[in-house]
Amino acid sequence: KRVADRYLKREVLGEGTYGIVFKAIDTKTGQTVAIKKIRLGKYKEGVNFTALREIKLLKELKDPNIIELIDAFPHKGNLHLVFEFMESDLEAVIRDRNIVLSPSDIKSYLQMTLKGLAYCHKKWVVHRDMKPNNLLIASDGQLKLADFGLARIFGSPDRKFTHQVFARWYRAPELLYGAKQYGAGVDVWAAGCILAELLLRRPFLQGSSDIDQLGKIFAAFGTPKPSQWPDMVFLPDYVEYQYVPAPPLRTLFPMASDDALDLLSKMFTYDPKARITVQQALEHRYFSSVPAPTKPSLLPRPP
Ligand code: ADP
Repeated sequence: KRVADRYLKREVLGEGTYGIVFKAIDTKTGQTVAIKKIRLGKYKEGVNFTALREIKLLKELKDPNIIELIDAFPHKGNLHLVFEFMESDLEAVIRDRNIVLSPSDIKSYLQMTLKGLAYCHKKWVVHRDMKPNNLLIASDGQLKLADFGLARIFGSPDRKFTHQVFARWYRAPELLYGAKQYGAGVDVWAAGCILAELLLRRPFLQGSSDIDQLGKIFAAFGTPKPSQWPDMVFLPDYVEYQYVPAPPLRTLFPMASDDALDLLSKMFTYDPKARITVQQALEHRYFSSVPAPTKPSLLPRPP
């Protein structure tokens, strides 16, 4: 079946936050693509127009570590977003017990994640929904960030407030405290959670509710002191927590190198204004010290 006279529809790949994703062939280029069908019916009038304008901006984002939005068009009441087709994602890599991730492999996956983020942050686009299954892996081993900007355009169908679109486990403390004006720092926090998950091979801070998520964060890093994070007390959902001391970070990551541990501690800085930026993280000695990051084409991947 043809869609918009250009795409030959193949099998359904899965169902995501915004709708069905199916595989297709682009008859114009012969390329295999993934088409995300977004139901527009649920959204208020006018949103469609805004969405299309914002999507035009997303089409301008072109980087080796960002999944390319090839085409976008409305068709039978659905918005169709056409992306390059990806073989796998980082969640599948982390979960696969047959895959051994060396320190070089972990460094390579984190570097590609941060490079994709750096490109978008330079253009003032924040991802807001970073999690391992949004980090897709191409057949040449390149990691590419998916769903950039979608959270901001469409929100999340099952959540009322835009500051809650994050998958909870990767959510920065300022979002959990209800910050409405947040910045690129939320992506840095999430990338820190992803580095932690690559090291531990399980999600690092698995909160069962937003309150519990904050509790997990405080148990890991200690309760933030107002001197550490002065703006904290002005956040809408701020509540004082009972004092918890920070255990040494080393006890949580016994196998990490000193460089990895230092970078982690800077990505997990409470005050988003003091948190390391993506650009600074890329310049951290973790990336220049041995071992060098694995070449993408040599990275271990699921069969
Ligand atoms: P979610 O909203 O839960 O992140 P998505 O809507 O991104 O999920 O994706 C739904 C399904 O489609 C997933 O199983 C994912 O593997 C698959 N998928 C999404 N984008 C692509 C792509 N570019 N290439 C191949 N598969 C994809």
